[in-house]
Amino acid sequence: MTRPTIEECTENYTKRPVWAEIDLDRAAGNMREIRRITGSNRLITAVVKADAYGHGAVMLAKTFLANGANRLAVSSLDEGVELRQAKIDAPILILGHTAGERAKELIENDIDAAVFTYADSKAFSDMAVTLGRKVRLHIAVDTGMCRIGYVPCPDAVADVKRISELPNVVMEGIFTHFSEADIKDKTWAHEQYGRFSDFIEKLAAAGVTFNVCHCCNSAGTLELPDFHLDMIRPGIIQYGYDASSEVLVDSNKIKPVMSLHCCITHVKTIGKGDAVGYGRHFKADGPVKVATLPIGYADGYARGLSQKTDVLIHGKRARQIGNICMDQCMVDVTHIPDVKVGDEVVLFGEQGDASIPVTELTDKLQTIVHELTCNINRRVPRLYVSGGKIIKRQEYLMYKE
Ligand SMILES: *Cc1c(COP(=O)(O)O)cnc(C)c1O
Repeated sequence: MTRPTIEECTENYTKRPVWAEIDLDRAAGNMREIRRITGSNRLITAVVKADAYGHGAVMLAKTFLANGANRLAVSSLDEGVELRQAKIDAPILILGHTAGERAKELIENDIDAAVFTYADSKAFSDMAVTLGRKVRLHIAVDTGMCRIGYVPCPDAVADVKRISELPNVVMEGIFTHFSEADIKDKTWAHEQYGRFSDFIEKLAAAGVTFNVCHCCNSAGTLELPDFHLDMIRPGIIQYGYDASSEVLVDSNKIKPVMSLHCCITHVKTIGKGDAVGYGRHFKADGPVKVATLPIGYADGYARGLSQKTDVLIHGKRARQIGNICMDQCMVDVTHIPDVKVGDEVVLFGEQGDASIPVTELTDKLQTIVHELTCNINRRVPRLYVSGGKIIKRQEYLMYKE
């Protein structure tokens, strides 16, 4: 596969030589595979919260919608408004809590809210009446995650019925969220699903029905096809990663979208007894050729990786040495000939035939991929690549009045 050249990525070194490359062809392929998995009859809500897990919500939303997704989900109203400002008109659902006080902004932006109290729902209904518009609600159901939602019980049925009777309200959906669908043993997921479907039945008996029932995240999308219902809500698999270490994607079909890059800013050889970085944790016991990189933990290259990880240079692995600083870090390039300032470094992703999967980093950090990609900071420009060409460069720090 052709990749943009280092000159293209840095605009001939006129830009900060740090970037996250976002492969839109892979994002498109991943969504087409998710569509294949769930079949043609269901809706797909592409979860693009947290700036599309750090990949850039607007570009990823457009790519997913063009390749099989029907709708979008975010975690807060502000994230939804960002998508509307980018002229995206697909239905958008806020998965988290939206306060009744934000009714005007919600309805004016035509965004769907998750609700789990009568008071918020009443505030949305009142504002919809005032504005002469409708508001679409999704009832959140807590079947065991203990996060948000109605805990199924007779009082909850009565509350939801009252909500359904409010003027200018569309009972668009009802949903729950699995807390443990990403392990092999699906006992708990089945228990949650049982509680969810039982609650839906009780509501139906009370005369309350919904346009779409939904509960599957990435893990459910992959391994619980019987629970796909009217709509699925895949997140992490869209970006090319396994749902967890136990629930895996087909890596021939679903591929990582993000890779992290920079260029070397300094190369020197240190001698026996010299120590690298804060705290002097790496001590040279002979000549060591050190390359300095202009990326650090403030960019999302976590300090916890210090002295534990590798980078790729000239298609070879190089050990990171010394503590990772806020904005810079050092690597040992003694074994790589001809390393010079300006050479490209891959911190995770592929270079030639070599690769450092992001899970190699997250395993060392004892965290999940979601967290690492979300934490790639806004001072790291996103380079959107399609057909081997950069089609958009997203700079976040260029302040304009
Ligand atoms: C984040 C989220 C998802 C997507 O989760 P993944 O594990 O990334 O697939 C789906 N539904 C809800 C309610 C979420 O909060």
